[in-house]
Amino acid sequence: MTGGTTIAGQIERLIMRLGGAAVCDGCVTDRLSLSVPAQANVVTRALGGTRGFERIRDTCTLCGNGRTVTRHRAK
Ligand SMILES: [Zn+2]
Repeated sequence: MTGGTTIAGQIERLIMRLGGAAVCDGCVTDRLSLSVPAQANVVTRALGGTRGFERIRDTCTLCGNGRTVTRHRAK
């Protein structure tokens, strides 16, 4: 598992904490106070399809916008 204080680790933990709820890159950026939205995008794109993470077109749980979101399916 990754973790620690890297941006990738923070994003991973945030999405896992949401317990399967889908969240867009904008909200990830907002929640973690990242300086650049592109940082979240790079990480969530890389996470998609790995270890239960998936990228789908859906409604974001936090902001309600329909867009590409990331969620974690805990089995
Ligand atoms: Zn959102």
